[in-house]
Amino acid sequence: MSDTSRLNQATIAAQAAGSVDPQSGGVVPSLQMATTYLRDAQYELLRPENIYLRDQSDIVRVAETILAQLEGAAESLLFPSGMAAIAAAFRTVPNGGCVLVQSQIYWGTTKWLRDFCNRRGIALHEVEASDTGAFEAACVAHKPSLVLIETPSNPWLRVTDVEASAKAVHAVGGLLMVDSTAATPVLQKPLAAGADIVMHSATKGINGHSDVLAGVLATNDTEAQIWTDIKADRHDAGAVIGPFEAWLLVRGMRTLPLRMREMSRNAQALAEFLDQHDQVETVLYPGLPTHPGHDIALRQMNGGFGPLLSFVVKGGAKAALAAAGKLELFHRATSLGGVESLVEHRHTIEPHTGIPEGLLRVSVGIEDVADLQADLARALGI
Ligand SMILES: *Cc1c(COP(=O)(O)O)cnc(C)c1O
Repeated sequence: MSDTSRLNQATIAAQAAGSVDPQSGGVVPSLQMATTYLRDAQYELLRPENIYLRDQSDIVRVAETILAQLEGAAESLLFPSGMAAIAAAFRTVPNGGCVLVQSQIYWGTTKWLRDFCNRRGIALHEVEASDTGAFEAACVAHKPSLVLIETPSNPWLRVTDVEASAKAVHAVGGLLMVDSTAATPVLQKPLAAGADIVMHSATKGINGHSDVLAGVLATNDTEAQIWTDIKADRHDAGAVIGPFEAWLLVRGMRTLPLRMREMSRNAQALAEFLDQHDQVETVLYPGLPTHPGHDIALRQMNGGFGPLLSFVVKGGAKAALAAAGKLELFHRATSLGGVESLVEHRHTIEPHTGIPEGLLRVSVGIEDVADLQADLARALGI
């Protein structure tokens, strides 16, 4: 692989950070599925960095190089899922430690953290981090060693100021991790804004085709103790991604900048349409000037506001489910960031988390926006 980190994102992505297959001459890197690697007659490894597959795979390294370059990071590490990436980071916190996490984020994260911290005797504090004052006060009060924020948040679309958060966390000696899944490295660069670690569920927009489960952590401080611990945990405990998943990811990421631009454009148009619709109570989308986080989003996001959009249908759960049932193009399914549009009634899935009963969360794909808008209009009954 050549060093392509000085190039722009679209070039890095389209050319898979310069990776080809020198052995065959193929313009696409090859998929090597072997779990173990040869030694020669002198018992020397053919390639010193390749002993055993667990965390030694050329195609995984290719995917990690692309991710690091897209993120503007010194290094990235792939995991078999977004949750595995989050878990790897939090497993570095010692028993009896203290962590701070944004409230009302991706439910899987909140649920796992509550169980994990309870088991390990770690004090877990949850705060509405998009309220910068409340977040700063929580940092001062608890002095957490590791802090997780998620922006834009899923499914509330809250926007948290990464730069202000990093300052508040660093002032009390902690580290800031940002779950940037909904934005992908194309729309937002938390490391440049001061975050210590950026995390993504690569299952979502990064892969973008709803056919790979993966997670990633990236940092600029490769010497930090937490990064050393995370790497050791991945190597020793073995939460690794398989070569085929990495290969698919490399393929998916070639169009990442293109997809994020188109999804953001479609989502913006649909948010504006829904905002004017008389069957819709509220639209949650950072691209709307009326969104409380719009100014921060304008500052810390670039090129669009992402595929994730929630709206509250008038008439509660019954009306929302009826509308979801009438949609013909939006697939009724969880997840986000794929090329195909999805719709989800969060209250059915998480009835006890304070989600408005009429809320539909949409992931906007790259279909023709006129078709998507017509589908929504029909489902909402005009
Ligand atoms: C999906 C998601 C995760 C978890 O990722 P998996 O790949 O499903 O394990 C974490 N955070 C956010 C914001 C997500 O959307």
